[in-house]
Amino acid sequence: MANKRDYYEVLGVGKGATDAELKKAYRKMAVKYHPDQNPDNAEAEAKFKEVNEAYEVLSDSQKKAQYDQFGHAAFEQGGMGGGGGFYGGQEFDMGDLGDIFGSMFGGGFGGARRSGPRRGNDVNVNIQLSFEEAIFGCTKEISVAIVDECDTCHGTGAKSGTHAETCPKCNGAGQERVVQQSIFGMTATMRTCSQCRGTGKLIKEPCTTCRGAGKTRKTKKFEVNIPKGIDNGQTIRLAGKGEIGEKGGGYGDLLVTVYVQSDRIFTRKGADIYCDVPISFVQASLGGEIVIKTIDGEQKYTVKPGTQPETVVTLRGVGVPHLRNPKTRGNQVVTLKVKIPTSLTTRQKELLKEFYGDDVSSFEKGDDTTDGGKKKSAKEKIKDLFKD
Ligand SMILES: [Zn+2]
Ligand SMILES: [Zn+2]
Repeated sequence: MANKRDYYEVLGVGKGATDAELKKAYRKMAVKYHPDQNPDNAEAEAKFKEVNEAYEVLSDSQKKAQYDQFGHAAFEQGGMGGGGGFYGGQEFDMGDLGDIFGSMFGGGFGGARRSGPRRGNDVNVNIQLSFEEAIFGCTKEISVAIVDECDTCHGTGAKSGTHAETCPKCNGAGQERVVQQSIFGMTATMRTCSQCRGTGKLIKEPCTTCRGAGKTRKTKKFEVNIPKGIDNGQTIRLAGKGEIGEKGGGYGDLLVTVYVQSDRIFTRKGADIYCDVPISFVQASLGGEIVIKTIDGEQKYTVKPGTQPETVVTLRGVGVPHLRNPKTRGNQVVTLKVKIPTSLTTRQKELLKEFYGDDVSSFEKGDDTTDGGKKKSAKEKIKDLFKD
């Protein structure tokens, strides 16, 4: 089945068409495709149905407004049920639409909506986690206002001591058959029952708590288990903890999206943690032991002599636990930042010059020269002088 055509396109009018223009366009199209004019023409019959369906929606100001906002999705099952709100446009499942179209086309003229069970809306909530909470997991208690059954009337919508009655107009079906006299004779259309608005029930004395809706918004508390390794923007689904559905259609889900605060020292990319660690140029030259902070605590690391600036060191297995396999952890990637002193004492300058000799641009004056003894003592002095 092809996609449903735009109703305005079906009638050949623009979106701003007035009621009179719509009516005129409808008559013209309806005459053109009427079965009496096109006997045994399946294509014309389909067009005729399409035209009627389009006009039924666009001639009803309420339906038209819904169509203008949501398109065909507005008439998906339960989309407008009992005054229940839409929940954005994204809740509509294409898988369901095919089914609805099938039943519409099989069921004769008109776009009467089904008023059967409908699952409740999903509810979205955001929570903030610290950098560590996201890595090690935690339990968070959250409070969310969620539409649920009214405690006073237990969902019936009727005042206590009274009952909702079956709608006499539709006998509880929620839909009525409307026979209209038109220029072609009688046309029959199924539409939402005007008396009960599709609920199939009439409430004479509405519940004072929910005003007959059968549901109210309640603040509920949930404990959310945050798994180890969750990352910024990821969502935890609590099945069946969302809004109550229509007519026993079940509850929606609660979707908890986490936002992870940044850390002063660490940044995270997937399962790996990145950080910079400063070392002095003496430590870089001579090597030595440094202490690196990890999320598990401090770890000792031996800097190799002759370490170059921006050297990257990988500490294995102290990164973030993998979400699906928390026993496996990522790494910590450390960039060694060699700090060059910005001010030196006269003595320090002398020693550096002594170390490098006259040619201060030379990088490779080593320990193994013949007068190594002298240089080594200079090196030792430098080490003492530049100690942190
Ligand atoms: Zn109530
Ligand atoms: Zn009714």
